[in-house]
Amino acid sequence: MSSNSRRDFLRISALELAAGGFLASGKVNVAGASSAAPGTIHEPSRSVPVFAEADVCVLGGSCTGVFAAIRAARLGAEVVLIEKQNSFGGTATNSMVNVWHSLMDTEFKRQIIAGLTLETMERLRRRGAVDVDRGSHSVGCGFNSDEMKIELDEMVKEAGVKPYLHTVFSLPYVRDGQLEAVIVENKSGRGAIKAKMFVDATGDGDLCHRLGLETYTREHLQPPTTCVRLSGWDSIGGKFSKLFREHGDEFDVPLGFVWGRNVPGSDVYMLAGTRVYGADCSNAEQLTGAEMEGRRQVRAFLNMLRKYVPDSRVVLQALPSQIGIRETRHVKCQYQITGDDILYGRRFKDAIANGSYRVDIHHQDKPGLTFKYLDGTQVYSRPGYPHVKGRWREKIQTNPTFYQIPFRSLVPGKYGNLIAAGRMLDADLVAFSAVRVMVNMNQTGEAAGTAAYLALDGNTPIPTLNAAKVRSVLAERGSVTI
Ligand SMILES: Cc1cc2nc3c(=O)[nH]c(=O)nc-3n(C[C@H](O)[C@H](O)[C@H](O)COP(=O)(O)OP(=O)(O)OC[C@H]3O[C@@H](n4cnc5c(N)ncnc54)[C@H](O)[C@@H]3O)c2cc1C
Repeated sequence: MSSNSRRDFLRISALELAAGGFLASGKVNVAGASSAAPGTIHEPSRSVPVFAEADVCVLGGSCTGVFAAIRAARLGAEVVLIEKQNSFGGTATNSMVNVWHSLMDTEFKRQIIAGLTLETMERLRRRGAVDVDRGSHSVGCGFNSDEMKIELDEMVKEAGVKPYLHTVFSLPYVRDGQLEAVIVENKSGRGAIKAKMFVDATGDGDLCHRLGLETYTREHLQPPTTCVRLSGWDSIGGKFSKLFREHGDEFDVPLGFVWGRNVPGSDVYMLAGTRVYGADCSNAEQLTGAEMEGRRQVRAFLNMLRKYVPDSRVVLQALPSQIGIRETRHVKCQYQITGDDILYGRRFKDAIANGSYRVDIHHQDKPGLTFKYLDGTQVYSRPGYPHVKGRWREKIQTNPTFYQIPFRSLVPGKYGNLIAAGRMLDADLVAFSAVRVMVNMNQTGEAAGTAAYLALDGNTPIPTLNAAKVRSVLAERGSVTI
């Protein structure tokens, strides 16, 4: 492992900082509220210490990043893992989203996902921290997000990964066209992590974006949601969607979609019901506004319950340390996954992940969700109203039962030592709405960590790696590659 000693200094050239202001209000539509930067200042050039050197540096410590780091480390690489929050797990832990979907195909006959997702579920199951729903298209398992934080700590330690929590990636360091290091900030100050390979698992594609690689942000981003943990939810139960529909306007909460899940083995309920429209959470001001607006909506829900269900026993137990972000930037990669690839279950020679979760579009321009299934059916759903069912295509003889994610959709191409993993991957709206769930993103992390190791081991740039080799190593290590 790389030592933590300040063995080296990097000279960082001056950069221009755009100074931004904070939002004055947390209204629902924060998109238009961003103020123009009131000028720039010139940051003087300076040397910074090298905090660590590694074979592979993974930026972002959700399960995607953790699994990338563990895969590379178990194969023999020295790995540093950078996470800006105080624990690993990303949306699954710090945003409280405690549901993973099925590891089976759509007919629940064939296992299509395993690897570190299955391993983590097994470990949590031994702690009574998982409830499994076999045969559900909505849920594969519910888990205890805080138990997961501790489990991920254990897994990172066991793999010998060098972790940095409370450490935010700030800038890439490129010399002679080569990505040599990343600049991070933490309690020790500003420093560099030098590595031979980099995995961008920041969700927002921060590394790729700051390298100036081509990224794109859709006009209609799927909106972020502040989840919340509540006790006494059984005193409300099924009444909430109706209340929401009837009184949402009075409390200024937009009609979006409401779902939730008990924390296994407890009477604590995780509710995902808020919705901040028009926020791009890769913009600092809009992210700030979204956080505050999400919390305002939580209070509005509680006020609604106080007024209309005065005998409810609902008590706010915990708020997330970060709003749940569904979508921000995508990185332009060697291949963009299309809706047809997903809905027709296209097979790829370079497939590194399989998935069966339905297309699940959280609308920006109207309330509710549209689900599209691989069997040709679709459903439009919004709280308190009957589902609208239909078909997105005519019946065919044999429906696909799963889809795949190709390796190329993670490879931006310009830098030989860089790979993307997670929700920044290159996918159109429909494709992204299916692949974005965690059991799928986890696999992209495993593939990225494996590719980083193989590129290093074979002295081959990631963009020209033999994907068959990545697939065979993934399979040897427990992933399902079909
Ligand atoms: C409300 C909500 C409900 C959802 N429901 C489900 C569900 O039921 N099941 C499901 O499977 N999926 C669900 N999803 C989708 C899924 O959670 C996400 O698509 C998935 O977690 C994305 O994973 P990721 O690793 O790409 O990104 P993230 O989970 O966003 O992880 C990015 C990580 O990088 C870190 N990071 C970011 N920038 C930096 C930086 N500059 N420096 C250091 N660290 C950084 C972050 O702190 C975070 O840990 C939901 C999403 C939301 C928001």
